[in-house]
Amino acid sequence: MLRLYDTRLRAVVPITPGQPGALSMYACGPTVYRDAHLGNLRTFLLPDLIRRIAEHSGLAVTVVQNITDVGHMLDDTGLGGDGVGADAGQQGEDRLLRAAGAAGNALAIARAFEDSYHRDCDALGITRPTVSPRASESIDSMVNVIEQLLHSGHAYVGADGSVFFDARSFASYGAISGNRLEALRPGHRFEGTTDPNKRFHADWALWKAAPATRTQLVWETPFGRGFPGWHIECTAMLLSHLGDSVDIHTGGIDLRFPHHEDERAQTESVVGHEVVKHWVHAEHLLFEGRKMSKSAGNVVLMSDVIARGYDPRAVRLAFLEQHYRTQVDLSWDSISAADRMLRRWRELISSVVGSTDFSTTINHSDVATYVREVADAYADDLDTAAGIRILRTLERSSHSLEIKAATLLACEPLLGLGLDTVPDQDTGYGSVPSEIQALLDERANARMQRNWTASDELRDAISAQGWLVTDTADGQVLKRVR
Ligand SMILES: [Zn+2]
Repeated sequence: MLRLYDTRLRAVVPITPGQPGALSMYACGPTVYRDAHLGNLRTFLLPDLIRRIAEHSGLAVTVVQNITDVGHMLDDTGLGGDGVGADAGQQGEDRLLRAAGAAGNALAIARAFEDSYHRDCDALGITRPTVSPRASESIDSMVNVIEQLLHSGHAYVGADGSVFFDARSFASYGAISGNRLEALRPGHRFEGTTDPNKRFHADWALWKAAPATRTQLVWETPFGRGFPGWHIECTAMLLSHLGDSVDIHTGGIDLRFPHHEDERAQTESVVGHEVVKHWVHAEHLLFEGRKMSKSAGNVVLMSDVIARGYDPRAVRLAFLEQHYRTQVDLSWDSISAADRMLRRWRELISSVVGSTDFSTTINHSDVATYVREVADAYADDLDTAAGIRILRTLERSSHSLEIKAATLLACEPLLGLGLDTVPDQDTGYGSVPSEIQALLDERANARMQRNWTASDELRDAISAQGWLVTDTADGQVLKRVR
């Protein structure tokens, strides 16, 4: 049975889906005003890891992940000041509108970054969510939730017309992060001034009244012309797509507070009971010793990884080599090492593809034993690191190449390393050079004529240019290897 560390319960607990045979998951998604860096992507890998082991154990998994495209305050805490660390800026300034500039179309920018987000996730082998609702298209459900909160007395209209959540109306506030309302007093942990429009320092905006100067990302609602707070979008999208009971809610560790506390307070105040059964968080990524952030100057994007000639799945393998709750210290060296391991595994598989009948080898008891061990490691709070260690032991063992290759392929649904199909030639990051394509076409011809000598010579010629060609049931698949 799958066990995960539940942040609120502060323990590794068994996951028992509310609906037998099905697992529902809500994953906090990206704010699409700039490219996700590898640290963000590690967070977005978490629901994919859970999904793969859940599916392996026979569960039907539904994943809902929001796209935040309605703008995003630089100060996420609502407490003023430095609550968002290095990205802190002028209170109330909107990240998306700032990225758009005075003349830019904020939603067009959001769409472009949404596309690159999906491209980056595809490159990392992250299965796309079942639904990716956009905040800008979910305003009605947010308005509906806010109206219910106003009606039940959990929210109030502030002096400026904004709607705030009354933090003191939710008794178990702080259960996820351990933050108590009193400890959040301005000047205690957080510097800066409290918004004078709200009644209590820890209250937060559900709906912000828009200044007349704001011309984009504003909506007319019963509360006036304005835009939603960040936390309300997840409450609204979770409830409208998954209903009032969700097995798992994921996010980065930095979302525990205030985002998940506020979201939980809103959601439960609407529904009247605990909605999310388990909160699961991924740790920060360090890069060469420091947290990956714009201010530290160590932001690495997927396009940087590809520009250096590494396979994007090497990043995934490097992530898998560490537990999701540890602060992975990634470096170009560790990506390079993972890239070499991945290449060895691919070559191991392609060396026996064609000469082995995998349909029988894959049923070998040794293969089944390895797969079970890897799955057990995954099920034990996603101990992917142990899973990879098991496969490295297999790689060094005296088993036949066929057993090794069959095991790797049988584990592929858990690993997501693209071992079964060498990644698409068109990754969206750059295309295959015409001279390589010409060699590939020539080789396809040679193979049709069963001229294996020519086929092998052409493969060597392609490989000399830094490309690996593998033969699959669907034909030749090309992969850049350096
Ligand atoms: Zn969220």
